[in-house]
Amino acid sequence: MEYEQLKAMLESHCCTQCEAPLSLIWDGKTSEYALVCGTDRSHQGYKSLGSASQAIARGQGDKLLGKGGQTDMEKQLARATHPMSMLPLKDLGSNNDLTGAQVASLVQWAESLGLKAYLGHVCLYYGKPYRTIDGLYYTLATRKTPVAVGTRPLSEAERASYMISEGAYAWLAEGWLDTTKIPTTGLGIVTREETEAKSEKKPEHFRAPIAHDHPQRMAEKRAEWQLLRKLVPLEEKEGD
Ligand SMILES: [Zn+2]
Repeated sequence: MEYEQLKAMLESHCCTQCEAPLSLIWDGKTSEYALVCGTDRSHQGYKSLGSASQAIARGQGDKLLGKGGQTDMEKQLARATHPMSMLPLKDLGSNNDLTGAQVASLVQWAESLGLKAYLGHVCLYYGKPYRTIDGLYYTLATRKTPVAVGTRPLSEAERASYMISEGAYAWLAEGWLDTTKIPTTGLGIVTREETEAKSEKKPEHFRAPIAHDHPQRMAEKRAEWQLLRKLVPLEEKEGD
């Protein structure tokens, strides 16, 4: 991984296992810079720093607020939902407003999966329903042995073996059960074309402004989402 990229991850990521800040070290064995847990170098994985609201959405409220914290927050939030402001109101792909019937069926779908629409667990993307990253983490958090998920950019060697095209952003999501790495991974790629493509309707705008402004973050999210969907498969297929 590039030095600058690793340095940036010191600010944006923490240890997957203990959430301690990361340190950047020179690894004499590989003759490369490497990120390690600032507390325990045997720890593996880096995850992006989340907000308190994200922790609640992901079902990790007990860790944040103590035992019962998650249930308390959910009860309070459920009571506060009448303004509907926390429900999904737009299609994330087309940006069209959802109809009342679409919102209602999303809420119902979330419910049937043990998820909560008001916590942002489901979304509509070009008319098709999907579970969000927060929703998938929420399900994972309810398991007795949740997998710890970490993300990182692909190394140069990995880019070569995955045949990542020049200028593309590529991230890998990996999981650990206790301290054992699981074989399932997620790969997230944002191509250069995607970051540069202009809108067809408004050629002065980028077609995907988020991909243009935050390609690394987007590739990371795609990797994380792919891994989580493999870890929490649905009986019925969602979206695609
Ligand atoms: Zn650690």
